[in-house]
Amino acid sequence: MEITFAGAAREVTGSCHLLHVNGHTVALDCGMFQGKRQESAEKNRRLPLPIKDLDAVVLSHAHIDHSGRLPYLIAEGYSKTIWATSATRDLCAVMLADSAHIQEKDAEFLAKRHKEFIEPLYGMRHAVRTMDLMVGVPYNKPFDVVPGVRATYVDAGHILGSASVVLDCTEGGKTKRLVFSGDIGRSGLAIIREPVPPEGADALIMESTYGNREHESVEGARAKLAQMVRETAARGGRVLIPAFAVGRTQEVIYALHSLAREGAIPSIPIYVDSPLAIDVTTVFEMHPESFDRSEEMIQKAKDLFRFELLHYTRDVEESKALSRAHGPMVIIAASGMMEAGRILHHLAQGASDPRNTILVVGFQAEHTLGRRVVERRPVLQIFGEDVPLHARVEVIDGYSAHADRTEMMTWLGRGRDKSPGLRQVWLVHGEAPVQDEFKETLTAVGYSVDCPEPHTRHAF
Ligand SMILES: [Zn+2]
Repeated sequence: MEITFAGAAREVTGSCHLLHVNGHTVALDCGMFQGKRQESAEKNRRLPLPIKDLDAVVLSHAHIDHSGRLPYLIAEGYSKTIWATSATRDLCAVMLADSAHIQEKDAEFLAKRHKEFIEPLYGMRHAVRTMDLMVGVPYNKPFDVVPGVRATYVDAGHILGSASVVLDCTEGGKTKRLVFSGDIGRSGLAIIREPVPPEGADALIMESTYGNREHESVEGARAKLAQMVRETAARGGRVLIPAFAVGRTQEVIYALHSLAREGAIPSIPIYVDSPLAIDVTTVFEMHPESFDRSEEMIQKAKDLFRFELLHYTRDVEESKALSRAHGPMVIIAASGMMEAGRILHHLAQGASDPRNTILVVGFQAEHTLGRRVVERRPVLQIFGEDVPLHARVEVIDGYSAHADRTEMMTWLGRGRDKSPGLRQVWLVHGEAPVQDEFKETLTAVGYSVDCPEPHTRHAF
């Protein structure tokens, strides 16, 4: 029984691990590489293995760095099953279509601007075909992936539908349990349930995004959000919140809703300027079974994301009008680490105005505009133009969809109590220096830890 680390090895994006059992190969995730444009474009076109050798895909959650290359597999001839939770499948229906649209638009843009023809990584028909192959299964219900591999999804607490995957692998009469953490969520987020620690695991593939960091508390994040909205409104500015369409956007809307109800923020308009975020919010409303199952949450499921101050902007013209409008407001706009999406127009217009606040609520990888904003570079490059950064920049990591170091240690510690046979931990999905630090932390408390290099194969 072996694993090849084909993506998110010593880096954060491109999640893809190949499980080899009984002569079969199963891909855990098939995500998009993001970051430096040219380099990630090349990585995205490199298949993790010949398609004929791939027997199944098991997807942990819908984020594009985990699911984004599935349509590319299909474009290259893959036609077997892709497993996912039901909510992940519905999220993928909107997110992969959006991703295909971006691929096609990018190729069109390059053809127009540079007269160079680049075949899009995949098109809409491949995204649609992906959904034909994707099977939604419930949490906590084992399913057979290939002979010798039985999988079970358990809550990962990261985004709607997110899961850790428990894999019972049998070869030559021996059974071992491998757990793939997927992305591990925070404890105490409002909408999503808590992550479930590994049980009975012999080996573990574990994410490490924030392996050297502690987040502020969820309560602290809410207080800071309220303070930023109040102060920015008092200056007559706007709060620009670049947020991934899935997860953070809904948590932030939920927080703004409850703050507005309590009178803790002034009554200024709040715009969600992202067709994708609107579609994703609809998928949230379709899956209250994936929410924290408190009675209160189930009762409120229908109007969590709808209230008087909140406006959803689908139309492009409306979006443009918004960047020209006056007066204080909050704009939440989709952003792949500020590399794409409508947030770019709002930043191009608003980053130079000292009355405004750019509120960063998610992880910003190296070599992205988002990271440069967080580093408060004096001048930003947006659409090829220099834009001086005078707006206030604030980071709230309390809305992070990822667990911090202590939360990951707690998850792992609870898992160790329930996994006496746990010997091997492979760290994935983290920048190399962060992983090295986290490895030291874990080694110090007795785990055997490796940070596998890309494309290396390990036995378990
Ligand atoms: Zn994720």
